[in-house]
Amino acid sequence: MEQATAVVADGGAFLTFVDKAISYIESIQHGNPTWAWTVEQVFKCCRAHPKGVPEDELLMTLDLSWSEELRFTTAKTKIRMEGSGNVKDMLQRDAYGAIDFSRYPIRTYVRDLCGDVVGVSLFGTVNSVARASETTFCLEIEDVTGVAKIYIKDWSLGRVGIDHMVYISGVIHSLYDGSNAQIWWHADHSGSMFVNLSLLPALLNSKYLHDVTYLSEVKRSQIGAHICCVLVSIIYDSLELKLVHRDCGTIVNERPDALYCPFCQVTCDNRCMYSFQFCVNIEDTKRKGYCVGCAGPAAEEIFQISPARYMELSKDGIKKHVVSCNGSWFMVALAPSYYYIPYLPDEEDYRLTPFEITAAQKFNAETR
Ligand SMILES: [Zn+2]
Repeated sequence: MEQATAVVADGGAFLTFVDKAISYIESIQHGNPTWAWTVEQVFKCCRAHPKGVPEDELLMTLDLSWSEELRFTTAKTKIRMEGSGNVKDMLQRDAYGAIDFSRYPIRTYVRDLCGDVVGVSLFGTVNSVARASETTFCLEIEDVTGVAKIYIKDWSLGRVGIDHMVYISGVIHSLYDGSNAQIWWHADHSGSMFVNLSLLPALLNSKYLHDVTYLSEVKRSQIGAHICCVLVSIIYDSLELKLVHRDCGTIVNERPDALYCPFCQVTCDNRCMYSFQFCVNIEDTKRKGYCVGCAGPAAEEIFQISPARYMELSKDGIKKHVVSCNGSWFMVALAPSYYYIPYLPDEEDYRLTPFEITAAQKFNAETR
């Protein structure tokens, strides 16, 4: 993989901030917070404050959390980075002889997963999401060193699309063939966490967690999240309101007797919600006429209306609302995915529309 691609796949500004937070804590306290601990604390704060947190406030929150951590876990203070070559030797084994990565001080990559290991955390982009068997799902995550196949029973990760940038921890590894790792993950396992960074509203609302690029600089070959400020126009003919399964975001089949999720392969009458699905035309000062797909909360933010209110509108009312929405600026996260594009206009320029908007925030010049 080329270096330029790897930088984007690595999470860019988000991971730069994680390194900064670790250095900040190290500079004023004893002990080194592990990489995974720091990432998870940042995510917890982002989830608690979807509208974003000022950088200095987040750093202070992390510092306080680390003080609490030290108070309860003196063992962590003994973990110090002494060069990557010796780091693995410092890891302990669990009761079954597997190497326990839960206190690994630096980031783990797919290439680090040799032999039996537990407590692994991985950060990367999604290659594929599929059913592996009647009861198991397979999520393929790629980082700059390889691909990990993560097997999951009972999908509970919400909507996950191709090239979404995700973090997963608490994984149990069982096989590695030199370039690919096969891993098992349980949502209720101690230390388990899954975060879809591409869908995280706080990513857009915290300018130190992302890099803004022009549309003309966004290329499909660059995996990871692309953050752009764009002028948005909803394509009225593409507008649909669909019932989706809450657990996975898949559009459900409406059978005469029940609602059925084709991904989870379950009836899901009590686990459904309405979701907008549509295409928008986006442009910025350097590129015009770019059609992308949009669904879920990002579509709701762009459409500036709830599904319930939408259903009360007449056809004319909907058209007027679309017109009133168009011409607004949004900051958007783009993932190079074909997944949720329900409609493509027929014009030549629109055929190559391989992106979806995974998160959107109405652009407010005062916040930048
Ligand atoms: Zn489902």
